[in-house]
Amino acid sequence: MSDTTHAGLTIEITPGVDIPAHLVGEVQSKLAYVDERIRAAEVAPSGDRITLQVQAEEDTPQLQAELDEKVQRVIDTMVKGAFKPKIQVLEDHLQRPTPYNQDPMQELVARGEVSQEATGMFSLGPLVTRLIDYFEDQFLGLADAFDANPYRFPTLIPAKYLERVNYFSAFPHSLSFVTHLREDLDVIDEFAQHAACDQHGLNTPPDSFAQVQALLSPAVCYHLYFSLADQPLPNGRLAATAVGSCFRYEAINLASLERLWNFTMREVIFVGPKDYVLKNRENARQHMSQVLEETGLAYRVESANDPFFIGEFRKQAAFQSAFQLKFEIRARLPFEDSTLAVGSYNYHQDFFGRHLNISLPDGSPAHTGCVAFGLERIAFAFLAQYGLDVRDWPASVREAVHG
Ligand code: 5GP
Ligand code: ZN
Repeated sequence: MSDTTHAGLTIEITPGVDIPAHLVGEVQSKLAYVDERIRAAEVAPSGDRITLQVQAEEDTPQLQAELDEKVQRVIDTMVKGAFKPKIQVLEDHLQRPTPYNQDPMQELVARGEVSQEATGMFSLGPLVTRLIDYFEDQFLGLADAFDANPYRFPTLIPAKYLERVNYFSAFPHSLSFVTHLREDLDVIDEFAQHAACDQHGLNTPPDSFAQVQALLSPAVCYHLYFSLADQPLPNGRLAATAVGSCFRYEAINLASLERLWNFTMREVIFVGPKDYVLKNRENARQHMSQVLEETGLAYRVESANDPFFIGEFRKQAAFQSAFQLKFEIRARLPFEDSTLAVGSYNYHQDFFGRHLNISLPDGSPAHTGCVAFGLERIAFAFLAQYGLDVRDWPASVREAVHG
């Protein structure tokens, strides 16, 4: 079934199997990667209808058939045989009273506090920057509590390392590749004379670019593990901290500060024996519970899984859930009655220790874990709960931001 609108076509698809409520969001986010012509996708909360906004001149049976086949493939792979994970809630402060209930984006843009360079790329003004600095101080306090050593990591990440930790099969959809012109005078001359942008981007022929050896980094802690690869872990344990730019391409899911292509992550990272990593992950949660109380943030900590790609999703998500590998700090967004992950407590078992050959003094592979915060997201969630008028903010935040 379809009808035409001036923006393109609306196409409705009936899933071959109903999508259970707990997978509606996951399936919807994957529809962004199904076909370049899809401009918007919505799975009905009841899970029995999918509505696509499609950029196409006319509706043809062929278009319908192509989209239907790909969408059903996503549903079959993600939904068939899936079981509902038991959500474990470690902390629930979602009902903490907060004074604001508007979407802060409009006011942020009007005041020049947020300006969009392109989809998923934003510049932030003084108030938001000071607010992020306040949160950064809290995260540095967390790092200090563990005597975590500071590190700085590159924004680029070598393809060969991502391959070694199976990133390509787990998250292919969100990768951002880096290249440069081939070292060839003709290619460089040609580019210098003819490079131009249209609405689709640069007009450069793909064969002018060198083969991809580097990507934009999707996470901070990977760099620490890479630096420890293929050797025994000095002292048998390590606590570290770093902040860095991270990149996850989110296609049409990119919207406001909730989801960025280019965002900033602060991590506190633990490497060592299993008990050491798990105990510190729990201590970090308890430390942050006090910090977040002071900031007044309304949030909940609950079990979660990473957004694995379609083929890997069911198995990997079930694995993370069964072994309690990931807990998210989900802050309330009052204006849309939803929650947003502003941070996560992660335990990777000995995955990186095995794949990167990081060994403990007894010869066994090291375990790793990290506590990660999305800086733009935590500031956005705070502003969604407290608004832009600092007089309405909790005293500790107001004083830190305004001296
Ligand atoms: P994780 O490694 O748990 O996926 O990410 C850690 C944190 O980084 C998340 O809890 C979130 O705050 C932030 N983050 C992850 N993806 C995005 C994104 O697409 N945009 C923004 N703004 N933050 C993100
Ligand atoms: Zn991490």
